Amino acid sequence: MPVGSAAADELTGALAARLAGRPGLRLERGSPLAPLTTLRVGGRAELLAEARTEADLARLLGAAHELGVPWFLLGWGSNVLIPDEGVAGVVVRLGEGFRRAAIRGARVAAGAAVAMPKLALRAAAAGLAGLEAFAGFPSSVGGAVAMNAGCYGTEVKDTLLSVRIVERDGTRRRLPYAALAPGYRRTDLRERGAIVTRAHFLLRPDEPGAARARIEELRLRRRGALPTGHPNAGSVFKNPPGDFAGRLIEAAGLKGRREGAAEISVRHANVIVNLGGATAAEILALMLAAHRAVRDRFGIALEPEWILAGPLAARWREATAGAGGGRETDGEART
Ligand SMILES: Cc1cc2nc3c(=O)[nH]c(=O)nc-3n(C[C@H](O)[C@H](O)[C@H](O)COP(=O)(O)OP(=O)(O)OC[C@H]3O[C@@H](n4cnc5c(N)ncnc54)[C@H](O)[C@@H]3O)c2cc1C
Repeated sequence: MPVGSAAADELTGALAARLAGRPGLRLERGSPLAPLTTLRVGGRAELLAEARTEADLARLLGAAHELGVPWFLLGWGSNVLIPDEGVAGVVVRLGEGFRRAAIRGARVAAGAAVAMPKLALRAAAAGLAGLEAFAGFPSSVGGAVAMNAGCYGTEVKDTLLSVRIVERDGTRRRLPYAALAPGYRRTDLRERGAIVTRAHFLLRPDEPGAARARIEELRLRRRGALPTGHPNAGSVFKNPPGDFAGRLIEAAGLKGRREGAAEISVRHANVIVNLGGATAAEILALMLAAHRAVRDRFGIALEPEWILAGPLAARWREATAGAGGGRETDGEART
């Protein structure tokens, strides 16, 4: 259903009316989403809803399910492209009750809205190893779990034992992480229509100071490699097996290519930066240009790592369908 249509407006209005006055739900119609993303791009949410606790979230999803209102979960917004026309239905965020973490022995339990870099630092200070790689990039715990985030040879699945989730009809359950089929920058959470509320990691006791030292080492390595200064959302495409998306885009001659205020970074060709006021349409055009150039030159079909929200995913599929000849990029992570 198109954003802003009378039918869409009526549906989200009905949801807002059903949930109005619930103390654990903060509702706002027409909220801008760009400030909630690291790219600073995109339109408004028809309805933005922040749930304070897991019970509030279950109530929200249950009501959306009954009324047939679509939802999109936004974490720290560091791996998403929001369309210029905004997002239909309800954009869900996790509030205060999801920002607590506890460490017991080598076990770490963290709410989905906890900042992953903070959690990594806290674990390191407690003499626990396993999360160091997550100190260097923006992420919520839930986003890292949903994406099976990782870098420098470490992924979330290496240390994550189980998760608590709320399913699309509001059912709450705990699952082993393996049940979400974590792969290279993916899980099947989106297909399931479930939201992670809490994650349970098992880390390794380490020498005092060793994990902290590794965090500093990885941060230095990262500092030289990625663009700074302009809003971005990290790697645009997954690396194809045995190669790097950045190397391929650069070799295809697109490093530095601009579309309006969006640029394929001159520092790293697998990053698109917002030079100021870029639109999602401009960014999508650059993504498609990179996809086309790499496919034509190398016969490889790059696959977005970013989550394309709302109609952007369908626009991407339509524009790249039937291109043929490309190998899909679903290899192992090798950052
Ligand atoms: C400068 C920079 C560097 C980066 N470097 C890396 C890197 O080295 N390695 C890497 O893996 N990523 C990297 N990223 C990408 C990004 O940081 C990760 O993908 C991150 O884990 C996304 O978390 P988020 O909370 O921002 O999720 P969002 O971007 O808000 O969401 C991403 C997806 O996860 C889903 N999601 C979020 N929270 C939940 C939840 N609680 N339950 C269910 N689904 C949820 C969303 O619906 C969406 O589909 C980088 C990004 C930037 C800006």
